[in-house]
Amino acid sequence: MDVAFLGIGIMGSRMAANLAKAGHKVRVWNRTPEKAAALAEFGCSLSASPRRAAEGAQVVFTMLTDPEALRQVAFGAQGFLDAMTPGAYWVDHSTVDPSTSRQMGANATNRGLRFLDAPVSGSSGAAAAGKLVFFVGGDVADLEKVSPLLLAMGTRTVNAGPVGAGAALKLVNNAFLAQTMAAWSESLGLAERLGLSSTMVQDAILPTPVAPAFLGLKRAKIEARDWAAEFPLKHALKDIRLALAAARESGLHLRQLEVSEELYAQAASEGFADSDISAVHEVASKSPRPKGLGTAPSGNAAIEAAGGVQEAASRG
Ligand code: NAP
Repeated sequence: MDVAFLGIGIMGSRMAANLAKAGHKVRVWNRTPEKAAALAEFGCSLSASPRRAAEGAQVVFTMLTDPEALRQVAFGAQGFLDAMTPGAYWVDHSTVDPSTSRQMGANATNRGLRFLDAPVSGSSGAAAAGKLVFFVGGDVADLEKVSPLLLAMGTRTVNAGPVGAGAALKLVNNAFLAQTMAAWSESLGLAERLGLSSTMVQDAILPTPVAPAFLGLKRAKIEARDWAAEFPLKHALKDIRLALAAARESGLHLRQLEVSEELYAQAASEGFADSDISAVHEVASKSPRPKGLGTAPSGNAAIEAAGGVQEAASRG
């Protein structure tokens, strides 16, 4: 098929390459054109603007940072939306909030276009290997139509519901992912303070049902303090904030996620914004106890302070 891919970053570059390898005619555009140049070797042609890339395309894919980037590329001076052929498909893979996806869907429909929000599960490795999973919001018939293209970039599509549901599922996923990463880092920090070997702790816990498989994938990075970005920490922070905003809109208070926001914001401000999400370890595993909190009671004294053995046991 004749397709356009807009946003050639960590994920977009690998996804566009897989579409080209599957035999599709792919025009690509990136704000920083140099990053897209390497795709020429897979047969992709480089476009000078989003508008030029989208002209005549049967499907336009977007893989951009956040809602603001998406709006600029869709509606800006060289925006692609008005250049699309009526009846063509816009598939947005960016991780944004459900309200943004619904707004984009309405804008597409008003122009006679079809729209799917289809953010992805899987990082740069899965994108390169064509093993992404797509969380899709929109009409089932539209999903069936573009499925062959999605399956050139991934292994599975999940039909989450109407437009906006893919974005919602992705925020649920990433809120959990970010908290898990921070919680694991904090636990490894505790292990170190309690005199346990980090290798022994990871050997013991990672194979058990307690640990999501994702943590095993980050083990080598944590051990080597290799923070080269697979999933940039700044994007994890962006997703936490999108999830918190979506929760606020729906009247829900996510207390744990608010604490995670603090940890990720601190890591970003300490120079880890462009590092991998696992770099939250540098903050979460090493937070010194604030002086104002005083000295914690230990052992039996801690149980007494918490209201006695009986009460502590009943709380689990
Ligand atoms: P990335 O490498 O930072 O790429 C972001 C892309 O957005 C780049 O092409 C960038 O262009 C473009 N962009 C940003 N602001 C723009 C603007 N104002 N106007 C035009 N283009 C703009 O990020 P990524 O890791 O590929 O992530 C892309 C999306 O996928 C994000 O929503 C992220 O949360 C999501 N995601 C990432 C992963 C992962 O593991 N990396 C996994 C799942 C989902 P430039 O090159 O010019 O900066």
